[in-house]
Amino acid sequence: MPISNFHSHCNFCDGRASMEQFVQYAVAKKLSAFGVSSHAPVPFASRWAMKADDMPEYIQEFNRLKKLYATKIELYLGLEIDYFANEKMAVFDAVKNVGLDYRIGSIHHIDNFPDGTRWNIDGSEKVFKLATEQIYNNDVRKIVRRYFELSEEMLCNASFDIIGHLDKIVPNASQFAEFSIADKWYNNLMLSLLTTIKEKQIIVEINTKSFLGRGITFPNQQYFKKINELKIPVMVNSDCHYPDLLTAGFNEVYVLLKDAGIKSVITRKANKWLEVGLV
Ligand SMILES: [Zn+2]
Ligand SMILES: [Zn+2]
Repeated sequence: MPISNFHSHCNFCDGRASMEQFVQYAVAKKLSAFGVSSHAPVPFASRWAMKADDMPEYIQEFNRLKKLYATKIELYLGLEIDYFANEKMAVFDAVKNVGLDYRIGSIHHIDNFPDGTRWNIDGSEKVFKLATEQIYNNDVRKIVRRYFELSEEMLCNASFDIIGHLDKIVPNASQFAEFSIADKWYNNLMLSLLTTIKEKQIIVEINTKSFLGRGITFPNQQYFKKINELKIPVMVNSDCHYPDLLTAGFNEVYVLLKDAGIKSVITRKANKWLEVGLV
């Protein structure tokens, strides 16, 4: 049985259905809790983030649904907040007083192209390759190191509850023969990041967005044992943009977690994070 989901995108940002349609799906899937987490407004024009002007309506609509569905599901107000290399804390500061129930910290952008164009690490393989050539001197390891450097920086500078898709750089970096998640240098980066996460007591989301398509989670399932060893709390989220993918891959990933020795996941009840056992 799926437990809860705290990472999804409705049409306040780049999701493909209304907030209410997502809530109705969450009720139909019998989730005990559901969190809305649109992309927080960013300090430049974008097609994927919520507009700053829409924030009051986002909160108003959430409050309407929270009341309307109160007897059916617990709803929580969140945002997926970007940490940028250049603007640093701009986004975190902008949403400081919004009254969120929780915050997901994520990295989608690291450096810009020489002409100033922004580059999203999660775009096409072709654009990723172009970025490798133009920004990082044809060295994919430089991109990966830079991504992890910023992830560490985000953990030290910003305060949030959950780290989103922590190795999202992997699929695009894997198109290069010079990169493999089996590499020792890469494993050292991951272990260092997980150690910082442990110190900061942040929840790691196990993001299932690419599980049905590519058979991988973020962080990759090869780290589940290490996460268990470090006793880092985890929650399973789908990061879906369509309601029917709300719990995609959840049952399979619960099994993988259990196989790695992880016996419980984090959810939220009565406004508090708590662990629930995987049955
Ligand atoms: Zn994201
Ligand atoms: Zn997301």
